[in-house]
Amino acid sequence: MTRAVPYEFVVVTIFPGMFPGPLESGVVGRAFARGELALRAVDLRGFASGSYRQVDDAPFGGGAGMVLMAEPIYRAVEAARAERPEARTRVVLLDPAGRPFTQQVARELAGWDRLVLVCGRYEGVDDRVRALVDEEVSIGDYVVSGGELPAMVVIDAVARLVPGVVGEPESVVRESFEERLLDHPQYTRPAEFRGMTVPEVLLSGHHADIESWRRRMALERTRERRPDLLHETT
Ligand code: SAM
Repeated sequence: MTRAVPYEFVVVTIFPGMFPGPLESGVVGRAFARGELALRAVDLRGFASGSYRQVDDAPFGGGAGMVLMAEPIYRAVEAARAERPEARTRVVLLDPAGRPFTQQVARELAGWDRLVLVCGRYEGVDDRVRALVDEEVSIGDYVVSGGELPAMVVIDAVARLVPGVVGEPESVVRESFEERLLDHPQYTRPAEFRGMTVPEVLLSGHHADIESWRRRMALERTRERRPDLLHETT
């Protein structure tokens, strides 16, 4: 089942030219082309005041770098919300201090109609922006230079979960982290490569045996590499 209205991503950024970038390729790119998804990058400078269109300023208290000002971000997000008041819109700030981004978070975000993603830059955003957004998301315990790459990661992961985007829904349901398991090993031709062979069962044509082997391998791999996933309760 596909959606009547496309799932929409709105990105608030000082570098709108970075979009769609890699999101134009592959399965997600095709869904944008088919109109199942929509993406708009909004230039934060368009919401700045004064002839210099200033969006950043020095931090109070001193210190290195610049901070994105609250005012233009508030204006940009309020404008995005007002564009489609009937839609269920979720506003997310990309921030290293946010909730760790997981498949579960992607699933939750795919349940909305629109996602407004606010990208920080420099030393980050004025802390009062946290009062504006619905939630904050981090893509991992490391720092990248801006929120644009994290926003792309979020968009790609969420887009895959929007009904109709990935051709075979089963391939999404069976992926790593769905059911709190890593994926089972996958092989393709040839059956023997540099002395390494494909497990016999996969060549057998016995679907039930293949299914139980895959389940067993997924469990084994998860136990070995990510035992924490098996003990998580949410
Ligand atoms: N001074 C900030 C700190 O130490 O938390 C880092 C600022 S970072 C250079 C600039 C922007 O990149 C952030 O405001 C955020 O939007 C984005 N960013 C960097 N790392 C991120 C991460 N792991 N997850 C999400 N966004 C991130």
